[in-house]
Amino acid sequence: MKNITRIFTLIGLLLFSGCGQKDNGTIMTVKGPITAGEMGITLTHEHILVDFIGADSISDKRWDKGKVIEKALPFLMQVKKHGCRTFIECTPEYIGRDPFLLKALSDSSGMNIITNTGYYGAGNNKYLPRHAYTETADQLASRWIKEWESGINGSSVKPGFIKIGVAGDTLSELHRKLVIAAARAHLKTGLTIASHTGPAVPAFEQLDILREEDVAPEAFIWVHAQSEKDISNHVKAARMGAWISLDGLNDNNPEEYVKMISNMKENKLLNKVLLSHDAGWYRPGEADGGKFRGFATLFEKLVPMLKKEGFSEKEINQLLITNPANAFAIKIRKL
Ligand SMILES: [Zn+2]
Repeated sequence: MKNITRIFTLIGLLLFSGCGQKDNGTIMTVKGPITAGEMGITLTHEHILVDFIGADSISDKRWDKGKVIEKALPFLMQVKKHGCRTFIECTPEYIGRDPFLLKALSDSSGMNIITNTGYYGAGNNKYLPRHAYTETADQLASRWIKEWESGINGSSVKPGFIKIGVAGDTLSELHRKLVIAAARAHLKTGLTIASHTGPAVPAFEQLDILREEDVAPEAFIWVHAQSEKDISNHVKAARMGAWISLDGLNDNNPEEYVKMISNMKENKLLNKVLLSHDAGWYRPGEADGGKFRGFATLFEKLVPMLKKEGFSEKEINQLLITNPANAFAIKIRKL
């Protein structure tokens, strides 16, 4: 009898967690998993620290974690006051990704912070380690999968998405390899792929590569999509299923964002838009970490402007809460 009860409880739990997965999904923060429903208002593309010294010279000895926290924490607290609960840190390895720093900041701010795995090929490949040139896509993918399984650089911190970077109108073989590695790592981990892309041509090229690898466009975030001036391409990529990340918001450009978001709304694609500032960040090597740009324009300027344009509370929540949860939910998206 006891065993039967136990079996029924187990079946119940399995069904329950299975349903939760379907409706909600799991998100991986630097402090471990949360449900997508716990994400709340989310900034989907920001930075705490970026070091452009290059893959051959970078080391976390170049910054004092205490000083970075002192500098960045007030900016996190500022958006926390606006209701933001989750901060997605998009700095890849070899440009200043620091899991220990991010975990400490998550502890001191009380916010969810999410970091990534993957390599950034843009910037003339200056941020790629030597082994990225010689290893196969499968070898690179297995490095990223290992971080997902065992944590990053000896920490307990696991990546919450895959971040890659490509450049150019036609992707080089090296950059194609990064995309293939990301696709294969996605199929093993369910981590969403956010790719520093810019214009539409390489965005569609990457979607083609993903298709060849059996990965659905829903697994792909077109990062810096605002760089594409023909906004009909946002619609085209979103109709395919890709996420359109409009992530260069600053105090001088909210009007442009209202236009781009309204275009998506007119095409009934508000459910595919992600918004952020690509702001921050502490700059090692500069006095006091240089000038730090905050993350509040979205809350202080853009949201009031959208409301003025007739966007409902529900539509704003779609942009700031529902879309990030759906985009970053860990789930294998196979064709
Ligand atoms: Zn960025």
